[in-house]
Amino acid sequence: DVVVVGSLNMDLVVRAPRHPQPGETLTGHALVTTPGGKGANQAVALARLGASTAMIGCVGDDAHGHALLAGLDQEGILRQGMRLTSTRPTGVAMIQVDDASQNCIVVIPGSNAELLPADVERGDALLRSAKLLVCQLEVPLETVRHALDRARRHGCTTLLNAAPAMALPNDVLARVDWLVVNETEAAALSGQAVTHPDEAAQAAQRLRRQGCRRVLVTLGAQGVVAACDDSLHHYPAPAVTAMDTTAAGDTFVGGFAAALAREAGVETAIREGQAAAAIAVTRAGAQSSIPHRDELVTP
Ligand code: ADP
Repeated sequence: DVVVVGSLNMDLVVRAPRHPQPGETLTGHALVTTPGGKGANQAVALARLGASTAMIGCVGDDAHGHALLAGLDQEGILRQGMRLTSTRPTGVAMIQVDDASQNCIVVIPGSNAELLPADVERGDALLRSAKLLVCQLEVPLETVRHALDRARRHGCTTLLNAAPAMALPNDVLARVDWLVVNETEAAALSGQAVTHPDEAAQAAQRLRRQGCRRVLVTLGAQGVVAACDDSLHHYPAPAVTAMDTTAAGDTFVGGFAAALAREAGVETAIREGQAAAAIAVTRAGAQSSIPHRDELVTP
């Protein structure tokens, strides 16, 4: 039902008492190696939340790449759209976390930078039979544009999670049925500060004038502002005690998109996305925190 065109990384999470100074060597607590990347995280969220999901992406022909493919299999994500490359290593994120839970992250795109429009062409049969395409911005913009184009040509709805934050040309926005952005991304796209629901509503309206059909701005614990079909709504988030907000946005996108793929209405889809993200923020890690559909309690 859903095709994700996007990134896969191996996250190398280093825990240490504090961040080292330049030139300093420090003894840390532990290293955990775990699958990540916005594309893969959203594919996992989609699959766990009930959507039949296929991924189009690129990993290196190395230990990390093979481990990531095995991870997709474990989640039941179809991977005939995946490509192994021997010219670049698998993407990695070096994530350093100190005892105060502050993190510093360096991402090396690696093979994600090799995901090309030709990969989308090879996955065309997947797009032709899909209801929904989900993309992010951790792979080349040309590839995202091509995927949006092919999907629309096949009558498939398009969702762009415009993360990480960057400005986008209007011709890309015009190919987007659902734009999902957090505060930082909304600000980067609209050119105005976004920290509370009123500003989110203004930014969303501006982005609709730039060409996207519907815009959702996620505001962390403040919930979601949605601008669809000339109506604006604020949906507060469920009240929970957050302990690790990693992958909150990816879980929201997965839950929302899984509901859309079942042809649920917007309100239901936003409620399910937020219910899933509210669970994810009470658990540690990225993919490890994403819930399964039977864990959602929907009123
Ligand atoms: P990102 O992770 O991309 O920065 P947000 O922080 O906006 O995204 O979070 C995405 C969604 O996750 C929010 O719209 C909300 O539904 C949920 N969420 C995030 N933080 C919390 C929180 N502290 N309490 C409840 N829900 C949260």
